[in-house]
Amino acid sequence: MNYYVCETCGVQYEKSIVEPSECKICTEERQYVSVNGQKWTTLDELVASSQYKNKITFEEDGLHSIKTVPTFGIGQTAYLVQHSHFNLLWDCITYIDTETITTIKELGGINAIALSHPHYYSSQVEWAEAFDAPIYIHEDDKEWVTRPSEHIVFWSGEELILEEGIVLHRVGGHFKGATVLEWQNNKKEGVLFVGDIIRVVADRKWVTFMYSYPNFIPLPTNIVKRIASQIDSLNFGKLFDAFHRVIEKDAKERVQISATRYIEALENKLFET
Ligand SMILES: [Zn+2]
Ligand SMILES: [Zn+2]
Repeated sequence: MNYYVCETCGVQYEKSIVEPSECKICTEERQYVSVNGQKWTTLDELVASSQYKNKITFEEDGLHSIKTVPTFGIGQTAYLVQHSHFNLLWDCITYIDTETITTIKELGGINAIALSHPHYYSSQVEWAEAFDAPIYIHEDDKEWVTRPSEHIVFWSGEELILEEGIVLHRVGGHFKGATVLEWQNNKKEGVLFVGDIIRVVADRKWVTFMYSYPNFIPLPTNIVKRIASQIDSLNFGKLFDAFHRVIEKDAKERVQISATRYIEALENKLFET
C-alpha cells in the first residue's frame, strides 16, 4: 500500500495498492496532464532519491519561505508565519524530510496549516502528522481533498480568525473556496498571502486573476470586481504570491489598479480595435 503522489501537481492520494487511475486535480481544466502522460511517485521515493532539498529562507521578522529545490510538481512556495507564539504554515509543498522537520522545529514548529486552494494540498497530511497540526481548508473545496485526514478542519463562511492578526478570507475565483491570508505583523502595514488566487506578474508591480494559469483561462469581470472589492477591505502593504513573487510596497493599491486594468481589457476598453 502506498500514498501515491502525482508528479505533475504534487498532490498526494489516500493509501492504495495500485496507482490511482488518474489525478483528479490534473485532469480538471485548471491543471493539465503532462505531455509525457500521468506519472506517480511516493514521498518515500522522493526522499530516498536524495535529489531534493527544502530551502528555508528568512524573509522578514516572523516570516520564512519554504521551497523545494530542484522544483517538484507545480513548484510553489510555502510560508511559515511566526506570529506571537502561533506558527502558521501557509500553503504546502510535497517534499518533506527529517532535515525540514528539524529546521522548522527550531523555528517553533507549526501550530496550524492553512491552504489557499487544492493545487497546493500536496502532502499536507504528512506535514500535519509531523507537527500534529490542524489543516484549515474552506468547505467549498472539500471535494478536492484526495487524502482525507482527521487533521483537516473544513471552515465555512467568508472569514476565519485563526489568531488575532492571522485571518483567512474566502475570496473565490480560481476555486470556489479560494482563500487568502491577512497577517498583521505588528507593523503599520500588514501582509497579504494570495497563493495563486491572485498572481504577481513579471514586473512585481501588477497582479492578475485567472481561472486557469497553465491553460490561460481568465476570470469574468464580475468575479474580479468582487475579489477586488473584498481585498480592498483588508489591511496590507506587502503581498506574497505562491511563486515567491513579492510586491514590496503599496500592494493594496497595486491590486486595485491591476483589477481595473484587467476589467478594462476584458471589456475591450484598453484597445483600439
Ligand atoms: Zn496531479
Ligand atoms: Zn492554482
